[in-house]
Amino acid sequence: MKLTWLGQGGFLFVSEGFRLAVDPYLSDFVERKQGLTRLTPPPMDAEELSPVVVVCTHDHPDHLDPVLIAHLVERTDCLLAGPGAVQERLRKMGAAPGRILPLSAGQQSAAGPFQLRALHASHGATEAVSLLLRAAGQSVYLTGDTLYTRELTASACEFAAGVDLLLVCINGKWGNMDHLQAALLAALLAPRTVAPMHYGLFAENTVDPAAFLARCDEAGMHAVELHVGAETDLADLRAN
Ligand SMILES: [Zn+2]
Repeated sequence: MKLTWLGQGGFLFVSEGFRLAVDPYLSDFVERKQGLTRLTPPPMDAEELSPVVVVCTHDHPDHLDPVLIAHLVERTDCLLAGPGAVQERLRKMGAAPGRILPLSAGQQSAAGPFQLRALHASHGATEAVSLLLRAAGQSVYLTGDTLYTRELTASACEFAAGVDLLLVCINGKWGNMDHLQAALLAALLAPRTVAPMHYGLFAENTVDPAAFLARCDEAGMHAVELHVGAETDLADLRAN
């Protein structure tokens, strides 16, 4: 399985040529509508992304990009997945019911070589999920946006302990865990590799990942910093 960080909480996963995007934010919607300052340009456009399936963990514009998703709904036949509030948004955007995969917390789905399982996330009043995905004998747990709660750790420990890669939010505000809580989650799950995410995109909502990486290092965990737009083979992460 290969992955490319798209910035913020967004990733493109590719296995056997099948392209699965999670929370891709590739437009300037948040800048225009909410006035946040974008720090890095999108690493690709909708054509390059070319997903077969898109999963949105929740209905916030940095995860369900209204511009990108409208484009995909109108111009492509990709499948779109997410929890109930995401499904509702997709219907309002004109996605045909047959293109919408239900993926609320506790639900599983298959998409090409990928097995998907939506797990708990605690993101304030917003219905959100975290996501466990498996393909080619490898596993990734992506927290999405979530606080560090008992429900999160219980759900993650039940299903995502020992994953090959943990992708964890570290920005510590607006409903997300901070780097210390992220490191605690990593310690509980003992993934083979952990990488921080959800920083570096907006000036008003970013942190330096160095403190998280140092904390993991002190705890003897293998932590790596991903680079936006660079494709990484999961099998190579351990050696890097
Ligand atoms: Zn977010």
